[in-house]
Amino acid sequence: MQKKIMMLSIHGDPAATIGSEEQGGQPIYINDISKLLSENYEIDIFTRKKNKVEEEIIKIFPNVNVIRIQAGPVEFISKEKIYLYLNEFFMNMIRWIKKNKRDYLLIHSHYWDSASIALKSKDYFEIPVVHNCHSLGRVKYEVIGKTKTPFADMRLLEEKLILKYSNAITASTPQEIENILNLYNVMGENIKLICAGINENLFRPIEKKIAAKKVDFNSKNTILFVGRINKEKGLRILIQALGQVKKKFNQEIKLLIIGGDISEAKHSEIENKEKKHLKELIEQLKLSNNVHFLGSIARQWLPYYYSIADICVVPSLYESFGLVAVEAMACATPVIASKVGGLAHTVKNEFSGLHFEKENFKDLAEKIIELITDPEKINKMGINARTRVSENFGLNKTVEQIKELYKSLIES
Ligand code: UDP
Repeated sequence: MQKKIMMLSIHGDPAATIGSEEQGGQPIYINDISKLLSENYEIDIFTRKKNKVEEEIIKIFPNVNVIRIQAGPVEFISKEKIYLYLNEFFMNMIRWIKKNKRDYLLIHSHYWDSASIALKSKDYFEIPVVHNCHSLGRVKYEVIGKTKTPFADMRLLEEKLILKYSNAITASTPQEIENILNLYNVMGENIKLICAGINENLFRPIEKKIAAKKVDFNSKNTILFVGRINKEKGLRILIQALGQVKKKFNQEIKLLIIGGDISEAKHSEIENKEKKHLKELIEQLKLSNNVHFLGSIARQWLPYYYSIADICVVPSLYESFGLVAVEAMACATPVIASKVGGLAHTVKNEFSGLHFEKENFKDLAEKIIELITDPEKINKMGINARTRVSENFGLNKTVEQIKELYKSLIES
């Protein structure tokens, strides 16, 4: 009989469309690791049902099911408000588990909204919990200084509890370990550094000519942005920087923006507001012919876009890991990233890309010009970038470490 793992990803559904509001790196990472973990384990991933037409269970790989549990209204709710429905989620999930006679050996939970359910399940089933924070409230509210949302204090409390009482915490960068130790007043003896990883067979360098033909786009001096369309992702800074670059560089330059929902009707409120702001900025800076919104693009197509780009820019105000930077590097595309969170660790300055001071569009513009005018440097950094990913951020290594951790907890 296969060993069964219960995975919790309350707000990010690994079987839903990627790139739109709140469907970012977390469900992708869960999807990727589950596929490899399923060689040894059977995995049920519990998530909140958001859509009436969605099926209750989806088999995303032979041994991996996504199970949608009803909690609160069956519609999109921002992750800040999910707190209200966590008890209902727990009760309905337990009912489902009993009805379907599932027997789990371990819980692997993701993000703080899964934390309280993970701890309750730990007591209920008397099995160990592994938790991956993905992002930390104290960093958000105390280090970056974001305004607290209505349930922010509950988030901080849940985080503290999970950091203290879970059997293992997996941190994806050394910086995250430091943040946990400095900001949460916990001993941290349960923390393990397991860097997030990406699939190097999918994200690989593709010859520019071939990639350009495949996506039907051919232009010189191409900058790429991939990510959700919200203020934290820093697109405003990139567009302001592009305004400067265009003035000084005086050459054809293109910015491709991938992410967000393509169908206008499905745009979330946050995404709509941000897009409106960006479009005004683009008009104001006379960049309409330089910027192209391509909408959300399926993952298997992204390597072609990373490969046609001369540079990928990740201008986030904060990023706990930042898969996009690593994916671009794996495709041998240098990355210019703000020096924050995970990006400070994944992108090696002057080796696989350049860092710029967060929110400083003038600094970003200088870094873009520095690279775009030096094709030799772009080439060299591209090669370095691919090496950096192979040595540090391959998915196989990540999953081997997770398997080791599971084994140590299940067999102890
Ligand atoms: N992504 C995608 N299609 C899109 C936009 C984004 O597949 O149209 C993926 C991207 O490749 C990356 C993830 O979404 O794997 C975003 O993860 P990241 O860690 O960079 O940011 P997050 O969304 O978690 O803040």
